[in-house]
Amino acid sequence: MKANLLDFDIEGLAAFCAGIGEKPFRATQLFRWIHQRGEADFSAMTDLAKSLRDKLAVSAHIAAPALLSQHASVDGTIKWLFDVGGGDAVEAVFIPETDRGTLCISSQAGCAVGCRFCSTGHQGFSRNLSTAEIVSQLWFAEHFLRKHLGQSTRVISNVVMMGMGEPLQNYAALIPALRVMLSDHGYGLSRRRVTVSTSGVVPVMDRLAGDCPVALAVSLHAPDDLLRNQLVPLNLKYPLAELLGACERYLAHAPRDFITLEYCMLDGVNDSVEQAQQLAGLLAQYAGGADWCKLNLIPFNPFPASGLLCSPPQQVQAFAQALMAAGLTTTIRKTRGQDIDAACGQLAGDVMDRTRVHERMSNQRTVRLVRGPTARAGAVL
Ligand code: SAH
Ligand code: SF4
Repeated sequence: MKANLLDFDIEGLAAFCAGIGEKPFRATQLFRWIHQRGEADFSAMTDLAKSLRDKLAVSAHIAAPALLSQHASVDGTIKWLFDVGGGDAVEAVFIPETDRGTLCISSQAGCAVGCRFCSTGHQGFSRNLSTAEIVSQLWFAEHFLRKHLGQSTRVISNVVMMGMGEPLQNYAALIPALRVMLSDHGYGLSRRRVTVSTSGVVPVMDRLAGDCPVALAVSLHAPDDLLRNQLVPLNLKYPLAELLGACERYLAHAPRDFITLEYCMLDGVNDSVEQAQQLAGLLAQYAGGADWCKLNLIPFNPFPASGLLCSPPQQVQAFAQALMAAGLTTTIRKTRGQDIDAACGQLAGDVMDRTRVHERMSNQRTVRLVRGPTARAGAVL
């Protein structure tokens, strides 16, 4: 079977090159062609010896999942749906801002954590993505956007692992993918601009701190275990004291001097001023006080099966005020891409109906990417 070169970080690619009798520096050249130039055709890699190109054509390929659809929001957000086979599809979302371009990436098809307020969680777990399937989302988006915008320099400056899935439950594939993002020969993103978001897989947070300490976001959503057990079932295994203890340990390795704590605002569930005060009291017990974290309040994006509602704006404000009064840096997340269902927790809303996915897949096979990210789907923008 041919090796998919999108599966390798630079060390992995060097090992692959050694396996076909090539020197390690060839791996660097090849890696740059793939990730910096977006090239998927070995014959176009003109500074590689013809003999190497021939060898690669036999033993390797550069294969990204097929693009199923692309939707562009009025606010500039773009959502792509990729076919990862077996009836599964995953999404990536590009969010342009004045000072940065952020890509939100998926790590799994579905998710096993099953949070009450998350449509991916409701869908259940299908499978882990491979490194290639994670990296492909960035590879595709970056080179598609450069072409689309007519830009030769980097478009995506930040990556957040906040799409579908729990990245720390797919650790083996995640780490090489992060290394590709950080590599100077790859996307050259700084550790501060690559964020892993987790619902709190405590032992794996410690491993991440040692192996690849990128910026960390922790999905908290509740000020006490009783409520968090109901919203984020993983809390039964790793309760708040353990989770916040892991945050404390992570801080020693984190590329920023804070951890982002995400809190999804659910009407009448976790959004009272008393709960904000309780939360502030809890957080003050860790890492020497209030300065170690930043609260990011996410207005809940409803989906039909959840049976939950978003807190009214004035309640979100009151909750934020109470946290700030207690000395906690607090922001309210702006919802982007709502007209195309690209906001947090709405990803794969469509995918829940697998029949429709199959139907679309058979209709849309023609958008399969055959030669690198020169997306034909550009036409729908
Ligand atoms: N599994 C990881 C990363 C993916 S979810 C995690 O849970 O952190 C990314 C973020 O979106 C999390 O903070 C999650 O709580 C939030 N989220 C999920 N569903 C949401 C919804 N319906 N509305 C708003 N935010 C949601
Ligand atoms: Fe999984 Fe994150 Fe959704 Fe929870 S919020 S179900 S951990 S993707």
